[in-house]
Amino acid sequence: MDQVIQELLPIIENEALLHNIEVRYISPEKPCRPVWAGEELLKQVILNLCKNGIEAMDEGGILSIRLIFLPNDDFLTLEVQDNGPGISSQAMNKIFDPFYTTKENGTGLGLPVCKRIIQDLKGDIQVSSGETGAVFRIKLPCFSG
Ligand code: ADP
Ligand code: MG
Repeated sequence: MDQVIQELLPIIENEALLHNIEVRYISPEKPCRPVWAGEELLKQVILNLCKNGIEAMDEGGILSIRLIFLPNDDFLTLEVQDNGPGISSQAMNKIFDPFYTTKENGTGLGLPVCKRIIQDLKGDIQVSSGETGAVFRIKLPCFSG
């Protein structure tokens, strides 16, 4: 997962730069165990979440990507956090529905696709939101080799 994020960072940073947004990536000090997932699928999930974060923030802000791995756990956590307006409680129930979008040129497919990918990998995706923005939190089982 760390390797995939490292590969995507220049792309995410480029997009963020256009909107004056700073990207912060915080990775664990100890190496993570690999997750049992295709690289392309992981990329799709990470890019969808980061793109949404950037789009939520308009001009300026911080996109934080955090990878959390506790050596005794058998899963890895990825958090993507923005400091945009957050998600209202009414919208919370709809954001994973196909074709739900609040954007003029949105497809409403980003989050349903993320959810589908993560569920197929036996993982879990959660969202929380407050006045300081939205946080998407993904847990994926690690390869225990
Ligand atoms: P799209 O990006 O094409 O609109 P998504 O499925 O990616 O479709 O997202 C659906 C909707 O969820 C968005 O239109 C937006 O209203 C809301 N949303 C997603 N991510 C965020 C976020 N980080 N902050 C605020 N709202 C968000
Ligand atoms: Mg999207």
